[in-house]
Amino acid sequence: MNIETKCVQCGYAPKNGEPRVVPVSMSTTFKYDSTETVGRLFDLKEDGFFYTRLANPTTDAVEKKLAALEGGTAAMLTSSGQAATTLAVLNLVSGGEKFVSSSEIYGGTYNLFAVTLKRLGIECIFVRPDDTAALEAALKDGAKAVFAETVANPALGVIDIEKWANIAHKAKVPLIIDNTFATPVLCRPFEFGADIVVHSTSKYLDGHAVSLGGAIVDGGRFDYKEGGYKQFTEPDESYHGVVYADAFKDAPFVTKARVQLMRDLGSMISPMNAFLLNIGMETLHLRMPRHSANALAAAKFLKQSKKVVSVCYPALESDTQYEKCRKYLGGMGSGVVNFDLGSRENAVKFMDALSLAKICVHVADARTCVLHPASSTHRQLGDTELCAAGINPGTIRLSCGIENSEDILADLSAALKSV
Ligand SMILES: *Cc1c(COP(=O)(O)O)cnc(C)c1O
Repeated sequence: MNIETKCVQCGYAPKNGEPRVVPVSMSTTFKYDSTETVGRLFDLKEDGFFYTRLANPTTDAVEKKLAALEGGTAAMLTSSGQAATTLAVLNLVSGGEKFVSSSEIYGGTYNLFAVTLKRLGIECIFVRPDDTAALEAALKDGAKAVFAETVANPALGVIDIEKWANIAHKAKVPLIIDNTFATPVLCRPFEFGADIVVHSTSKYLDGHAVSLGGAIVDGGRFDYKEGGYKQFTEPDESYHGVVYADAFKDAPFVTKARVQLMRDLGSMISPMNAFLLNIGMETLHLRMPRHSANALAAAKFLKQSKKVVSVCYPALESDTQYEKCRKYLGGMGSGVVNFDLGSRENAVKFMDALSLAKICVHVADARTCVLHPASSTHRQLGDTELCAAGINPGTIRLSCGIENSEDILADLSAALKSV
């Protein structure tokens, strides 16, 4: 199947007389006729559902769809993108060990890596996305995982997945890619060598800003034996001595994340949220090109305005990320555009004069929205600290929805008059 068909059809195939749409199984538990059957489920000898913290029919269908979209072997949904990233890192890195991450990442992920995981004894070494020497050095120093975002939120850099994967693999370390902003419609990181993909499904995958969620997808190819990952190659004393790399050759990463970490940490998605996510994913292939076309139109419009100091959008030919955008994203830049109005005052005037685009602390849904980092997400920083974080006092983040682009441009044009 092509990706458009997968968005609509994968994950659920009703039998004779069953509901056409994947039903919402709002049930914590499942009924069996014999104790023996339940025993086989617990031994992982049989597929089935017994408790929604571990697996649920609605969630399972959506996981299968996402795995198919990414070209992975299995997926696990989580309660949020933050939960997905946390479980993905904890699956590879233990207290006393370290891992390496691109420094251009989502603010929430940065805090998780720099503060919370650090308190658990896990050290994150941050390297600039173009500093491959620093990446190699961190790996020589014993880093157990590599992390980066396909399109960085909010900086909008495009990571050179192939290059990062090759460097990671030389050190026998897996590469985790956060594919939230690209989605599998624009980029499938496994095709470029990534080993694990994570998502905040709260963004484009859901697409309508209705439900929080996250996901981990297993590429199924990484050799944990060669890499010396004992947690995959030695018996798990908390799960009848199972050896994940042997017993689950197709998807050792997601199986361990589920039966060990999800079991213990419990950050599962609600079946209702999985159901809503599935409806969003049905139209993902229609929305991503429209988000990208609207954002490109907005970026071009802003670039020709004398009131705009700079515009950052990977699909602009003049952008430093353009070549990588063509290679990894088929030339589509997703829906977010950053631009600078030169000062805090100008940015605030502009934001308050908008009418169609609403002020929201969110990006990546069907409705156009804007955010002024200096007065919201990065409010605690002074102007000098802001600039160090790559954000100017006049920077605005515009998340283009799927409306008609003429209406978006008219709104931007009217608001620019107030500057
Ligand atoms: C939003 C976001 C997250 C966090 O996801 P939540 O669902 O809000 O927990 C992680 N990574 C990226 C790139 C994001 O944009």
